[in-house]
Amino acid sequence: STQVEEREFQAEARQLLELLIHSVYSNKDTFLRELISNASDALDKARLESYRNKDLDIDTSDLHIEITPDKDARTLTVRDNGIGMSKDEVVTLIGTLAKSGTAELRRALAEAKNSEVPSELIGQFGVGFYSTFMVADKVTMVTRKVGETTATRWVSEGAGTYTIEDVEDAPQGTSITLHLKDSDDDDHLFDYTAEWKIREIVKRYSDFISWPVRMDKESTVDEETVTETVTLNSQKALWARPKSEVTDEEYAEFYKHVSHAWDEPLEVISMKAEGTFEYQALLFLPTHAPHDLFTREHKRGVQLYVKRVFIMDNCEELMPQYLRFVKGVVDAQDLSLNVSREILQQNRQISRIQKRLVKKVLSTIKDMMANEPEKYRTFWGEFGRVLKEGLLFDVDNRETLLEVSSFVSTRKQEDTEDEQNRWTTLREYVDRMKDGQDRIYYMTGETRQLVENSPHMEAFQAKGLEVLILTDPVDEMWVESVREFDGKQFHSIAKGDVDLDSEEEKEADESDREQREKDFAELLNWMKETLTEDVKDVRLSSRLTTSPACLVGDDFDITPALERMYRASGQ
Ligand code: ADP
Ligand code: MG
Repeated sequence: STQVEEREFQAEARQLLELLIHSVYSNKDTFLRELISNASDALDKARLESYRNKDLDIDTSDLHIEITPDKDARTLTVRDNGIGMSKDEVVTLIGTLAKSGTAELRRALAEAKNSEVPSELIGQFGVGFYSTFMVADKVTMVTRKVGETTATRWVSEGAGTYTIEDVEDAPQGTSITLHLKDSDDDDHLFDYTAEWKIREIVKRYSDFISWPVRMDKESTVDEETVTETVTLNSQKALWARPKSEVTDEEYAEFYKHVSHAWDEPLEVISMKAEGTFEYQALLFLPTHAPHDLFTREHKRGVQLYVKRVFIMDNCEELMPQYLRFVKGVVDAQDLSLNVSREILQQNRQISRIQKRLVKKVLSTIKDMMANEPEKYRTFWGEFGRVLKEGLLFDVDNRETLLEVSSFVSTRKQEDTEDEQNRWTTLREYVDRMKDGQDRIYYMTGETRQLVENSPHMEAFQAKGLEVLILTDPVDEMWVESVREFDGKQFHSIAKGDVDLDSEEEKEADESDREQREKDFAELLNWMKETLTEDVKDVRLSSRLTTSPACLVGDDFDITPALERMYRASGQ
């Protein structure tokens, strides 16, 4: 006999579920999209596993998804005969949130303290499976992993705990049964047991799913009830269809499926190459950065398919790290189905595809910048920090990357509070450069305020010279390796000598300075001796207008922020 165990959800998972249960949704129908999306992933994985592991007893003869409504019991069951989950997997995958998710949730909850938590926020955590609790007050899952004999039954009402037990005799795959909420009982629009409703949702959200989504349909013929199994989705691969035939909504739903995200795509990029190495690509730029973009957990990028067969998630050989926010699918015709990471790494065709995809993504961003500035600003605000990593690693595309980058600068604007209004491109900066200015001035620092109030700024402010304010951690690094833009050197205003005066001013200053150096010799000597442990030299400066003193780095010194970063990483 088997034992029923009661367990608690991990604290953050419990909080998220609580939010889900008590929120009001504009679109509850999406729970079915999430279940079908998970089932589809599970079928992909089962097929893949059967290629990789011939010894395992995997039935791939009729991989599919089945939807079974029960009007009288008020339940809805979604079943797949895919990869399934082991007991441990159920506990970790369903009972806990990913690490990055927990940190983000804690932050969001702290911010939203006492006020309403908006439902968009909930979507950001990839609530996937949990979204079932929008419509169900109890969820039962029975799942058996391929190659295992014992299955697991998991039951929860979403409130704090779930039960888990072993079951024998369950078929391969996962079956999820929702006990629908009574509150939706008499609202015709939310009758998730109605055939038309299920049809409509599958058509709208999951039409492109490559596995058949089936449902039994009963009808009366000559006073006899006949049951017929119908397939609800067209199963057409979206990337194989011409762009003109696919609606924005279809692209948006596909994007949500491949990226496991709940936002809308900002841009859709579709590509096709024919000839010796054929492939199709359907890529998306998201509207919002996922919360794990800067953690090691981040693992959803571009998927690789071979002749319509899913091969892998996040194919790093197809998209460089600095474009890891790009989502989508590449379907290659001329690879073998059992292609491995090692093979991909050595495949020259793959690296050629990568080159083309990168060029296309960058040119899309460039077009966006020229033709849809609002969209570009959204994009830059979300992903600029990531894209700038490319300045370090992608030397081939450095020029283009510099062209599509934006920076905050000291240029005075009408609406100075709005960060985005203070953005400038390097091209615009260069066009505004003063006569005789031959460098692009910048200063790095932790925040805009710190940089703006730095004493180094004073002389530049006084002369009306524009300075780029670089506050992202990655800025410290690329400015070290990118020397120039359009023939103009980047120059930190916090380093070395700044020579801002004209020739006449200099001559006038020269005699002045000799006198001043005599006057201040004693003070300078005293300061040098006193500060000998901390600074290399003490000099009179013409760069300050109101501050009495400032710290200056040598041309080849590392900046204070970089020093802090090295120190933090133990170097
Ligand atoms: P996501 O799909 O974004 O990972 P979900 O909450 O939808 O998040 O699902 C969590 C995890 O549970 C999935 O990543 C998957 O490993 C597992 N899972 C969910 N549904 C199924 C299923 N039908 N078959 C196998 N595994 C599943
Ligand atoms: Mg999911």
